[in-house]
Amino acid sequence: MRTPYGKECFYYYQDFYRGRSVMECRLLGPHGGWTPPVCKDCPVPAILADNACPNMTLRGEAVSGLFGLGRRVKVTAYCRQMDRVVSDPHIGCSECHRSLQAILPPL
Ligand code: SF4
Repeated sequence: MRTPYGKECFYYYQDFYRGRSVMECRLLGPHGGWTPPVCKDCPVPAILADNACPNMTLRGEAVSGLFGLGRRVKVTAYCRQMDRVVSDPHIGCSECHRSLQAILPPL
C-alpha cells in the first residue's frame, strides 16, 4: 500500500471505506508513536525494494530527531536463518547468496 508520501510500503495500512478513517504502520505497531509524517523519511520502503530476503525480519522504532525535533524510524534487521543481526538491511547478511553460489554452476 502507498504511504501518504507516495512510497510503496508493505507495513502501511489505511482504510477510508464507508466513513472509516484508519491509518497505521504495522511495523511500529499501535503503541510505536507512528504519525503520518514519520513515513516521509522512513528507510523501510527502500529496504524492501532492495532486499526481498524471506529470512530477514525488520524491527522499527520511532525515535526523536536532533534536539528532540521531529521523529524518524530507526530500523534493525535480523536474519532468522543465520540467527544474527544484519548490519546493512539493504544488502542482507549475504549468506543466502553464498549458499546459492555453491549450488548453482558459474555463469
Ligand atoms: S513509517 Fe515506514 S514502515 Fe511504517 S508505514 Fe511508514 S514507510 Fe512504512
